[in-house]
Amino acid sequence: MNCHAIVIGGGPGGLLAAHTLASRNWQVTVLERATYPSAAVAGPQPRRGAPQSHCLHMLMGAGAEAFDAIVPDWRPSILRHGALPFDALQDAAMRLPGGWLPRSASGITMYACSRTLLENVLHEELLRYPRAQVVQASPVVGLDIRDNHVAGVHTASGTTLSAELVVDVSGTASRLPHWLADQTGQSDAEPWPETVVASPWNYASRWFRIAGGRQPDWQCLTVAPEGNGGCAAMMLRAEEDFWNVVLLGRKGQVMPQNDVEFRAFTAPLADGRLSAALEGARPVTPIHHYGRTTNRLRHVEDLLGWPSGLAALGDSVLTLDPYFGLGMTNAARGAVLLAEHLDAQGSGPFDGPAYQQDLARLNAAPWRLVTGRNTDGTPVHRKSAQLAQLYAAAPSSPDIARAILEVQHLLRSEDSLMKGVAA
Ligand SMILES: Cc1cc2nc3c(=O)[nH]c(=O)nc-3n(C[C@H](O)[C@H](O)[C@H](O)COP(=O)(O)OP(=O)(O)OC[C@H]3O[C@@H](n4cnc5c(N)ncnc54)[C@H](O)[C@@H]3O)c2cc1C
Repeated sequence: MNCHAIVIGGGPGGLLAAHTLASRNWQVTVLERATYPSAAVAGPQPRRGAPQSHCLHMLMGAGAEAFDAIVPDWRPSILRHGALPFDALQDAAMRLPGGWLPRSASGITMYACSRTLLENVLHEELLRYPRAQVVQASPVVGLDIRDNHVAGVHTASGTTLSAELVVDVSGTASRLPHWLADQTGQSDAEPWPETVVASPWNYASRWFRIAGGRQPDWQCLTVAPEGNGGCAAMMLRAEEDFWNVVLLGRKGQVMPQNDVEFRAFTAPLADGRLSAALEGARPVTPIHHYGRTTNRLRHVEDLLGWPSGLAALGDSVLTLDPYFGLGMTNAARGAVLLAEHLDAQGSGPFDGPAYQQDLARLNAAPWRLVTGRNTDGTPVHRKSAQLAQLYAAAPSSPDIARAILEVQHLLRSEDSLMKGVAA
C-alpha cells in the first residue's frame, strides 16, 4: 500500500493515531507545531504546545489497555526510561468521602512517570517504523479539500502536503471548525454543535524533588473534596524522584501563588499526609495554574458534509475536566477505534462520517462519568443514595474499593457498579 496520512498534532493522541496508521503500513507524517524537549535531559520537562504538561498525567487502566493494543512495547519502554509500575490501590493513598481506601491489590497497573516521558516513548517507538516521521515546529494552518474529500493540509511555511487521510488530533484549541468553514465558504456559519459543562475546579500544580530515602510509602495520593472544605489534591511520583502535586480549589477560590500559600493549602488536606510528604521535598518549578478546564463535547457526527479522508479524535473532539484523568485514555480509545475502521474499511477513501459516528458512541461513557450528564446535556439519573452508601462502605471493603476504582479507570460501567450494590 502506498497511502500517506498526515496527523495534525504530536501529543499523546496524535502519536497513538500515527502508530495505528504506521503499523498498517501507511506512510505517516505527524505535524507538530511545537518542539519536544530533549529526551537526554533527566526528569519531566514540560513543553510548549502542551501547557498541561506542567501538570501530572495519570494514565488510567482503560487507557493502558488501549496503549497495549496500539504500541505493544510501550510498557517495557517506559520502564527503561525510568517509569515505575504500581498497583492503583495497593500502592496508592486514596481518600474518598468515607475515609482512606484499603491498601489491597486491585490488579490495575499504573505508572509513576511524567507525560513528557510517555510522549518521548511514543515518539521513539513511532520512529521505528521506516515510513513514519514527526516534523516539529510545523503548524498546520488549513485543509486542502477537493470535492468534499480532504486531499492534504497547508502548513505555516506555505507548503501544501498531500495525503489520502488527515487526522486532526490538535487538542482542545483545534482550528478544525474554522478550516472546514473556510473551505466551504461558510466562515460566518453557525459554530459547531457542542455540549459544554463547566468544571467546578481551578487547578494549581508544581513539581518537587524528594531526596532518596524520604519517598512516601505510596506512589500516588488522591484526596476527594468531601470533608476537605471543598478542596482536593493529587500527588504522583514521576521518574528520577520527581513528584508533582496538583491542588484543586473551587472556582472563585484564590489558588496558591507562592511557596507559603502552597504549603498552607495542603496543610488541612489528607489528614496531614500530603504535608508530611512535602516536608522533605524541594520545589523545582514555579506554580502553574489552570482555569480553562471546561468539559466540551463537539458533536462532529451531526455535521452535514463532513468530508471523506478526514478524522478527528482526542481533545479536539472531547475535552474532559482533568479531575478524572481520562484525557489520554479517551484519545487512546479513539486511536483504537481508528484502527478498527482502517481494518474494516479496506481500500478507498476513509469514511470519516462513519468513524465520527462510532467515536461519538465511544465518547459517551467517559463524558457521562466525568460530567454526570448525558451527551445532550441532560442530567444522568444516578442512584445517588446507593452511590453514597457504596462510597461510605469502600474504606472497609477491598472489593467495593476495587469496583469503584474499576469504574474510575473506565474498566467497568457505573451502571454495573450500581447493580452490584443493589444485589
Ligand atoms: C491540567 C491538566 C491535567 C491533565 N491531567 C491529565 C491526566 O492526569 N491524565 C490524562 O489522561 N489526561 C490529563 N489531561 C488531559 C490530557 O492532557 C489530554 O487529554 C491528552 O493529552 C490527549 O490530548 P491530545 O493528544 O488530543 O491533545 P494534546 O495533548 O493537547 O496535544 C495536541 C498537540 O497538537 C499540537 N497542535 C495544536 N495545534 C496544532 C496545529 N495547528 N498544527 C500542528 N500541531 C498542533 C499541540 O502543540 C499539541 O502538541 C490533563 C489536562 C489538563 C489541562
